[in-house]
Amino acid sequence: VEAKNDIDMAARWLPPPFTANDYATRIARTIRHAMDAGLAGVLVAPGPDLLWLTGYEPTALTERLTLLILSAQLRPTLLVPTLERADAEAAAEATGVEIVDWADDVDPYRVASAFLPPGCIFGVSDSTWSSHLLGLQEVLPSAGYQSLSECLPMLRAVKDNAELYRLTAAGAAADATYNEIVRMPFAGRREDEVAGDLARLLRQFGHERVDFTIVGSGPNGADPHHEAGDRVIVPGDAVVLDFGGVMHGYGSDTTRTVVVGEPSPEIQRVHDVVRAAQQKAFEAVRPGVACEDVDRVARDVITEAGYGEWFIHRTGHGIGVTTHEPPYLVAGAALRLEPGMCFSIEPGVYLPGRFGVRIEDIVTVTGHGARRLNNTDHELRIVG
Ligand code: ZN
Ligand code: ZN
Ligand code: ZN
Repeated sequence: VEAKNDIDMAARWLPPPFTANDYATRIARTIRHAMDAGLAGVLVAPGPDLLWLTGYEPTALTERLTLLILSAQLRPTLLVPTLERADAEAAAEATGVEIVDWADDVDPYRVASAFLPPGCIFGVSDSTWSSHLLGLQEVLPSAGYQSLSECLPMLRAVKDNAELYRLTAAGAAADATYNEIVRMPFAGRREDEVAGDLARLLRQFGHERVDFTIVGSGPNGADPHHEAGDRVIVPGDAVVLDFGGVMHGYGSDTTRTVVVGEPSPEIQRVHDVVRAAQQKAFEAVRPGVACEDVDRVARDVITEAGYGEWFIHRTGHGIGVTTHEPPYLVAGAALRLEPGMCFSIEPGVYLPGRFGVRIEDIVTVTGHGARRLNNTDHELRIVG
């Protein structure tokens, strides 16, 4: 009965839409950060950055150029194909963006170059097609271009309250999904059947999109990105469940490892180690700590237990309008944590040919520490 209420609440809950002021604030902050980073401006093609900056997403991604141009010298300008002008106006005009259209018989890169001073460096959104960047390089060969996630890693990293609200709701829906799936049978079913249930539950709890439903049973769990296949789950299997998607425009991503029947001593031991690593890393999160330090804390626990060589990926990644974005918690990442950042903490141990264990929560940095956006039990859950 409780779970049913959760389903209804999560599915019905609709956050207030972002306002024109929210987008104007993001655009102003982006221009300020770009200037601080020595960029003349920022070029944004359709994708998560454009959606975040303007709320605009063309109905179809095509070869025609759509490009938001931001610089201190210019009113924010969105270049669109003439036939999509009306759509862009409806979505983005309220944000104060100037809409300029180009017709099919002109070179859109020439049109764009009129807004771009020569000899300068521009940040370019990661989702920009190489055909568009090559077109710009041809008309503006003296300019330099840098990937936005490299030159402005902080662009979308710090979430405002309205974004945090959405990430919290997405996390709660993922938790509700986990609480349902562990009541269902595992033994005798194929991985892809369990994955189908995960996808259905995520949607039922309010997700508009499911991005991944990893079900890694037995030896398949030792492959961190194993999707779900036709392997039939058997008693004694450890099963890695890693699933997420997008709800109200913001991502979810959580992992728990369950066991079918009584766990072997080694599955229990590895799970204890991963659980301790996840907990220690969580406790290390607070403003001012470097991303790489959180990774090191998790890695040290696993290394001291003798499984260091089997922790074969970074400890975490940011989440927002996408499910993988800066900041990355990885050795060498000196970026310092700030309140409002949201990212995963997901240490794992993968024993080839045998099994894997991963535990993943999304967390947000608070004024003094961190808060989890996933709150299901970390205990090794026994399923049927
Ligand atoms: Zn991943
Ligand atoms: Zn995940
Ligand atoms: Zn993740």
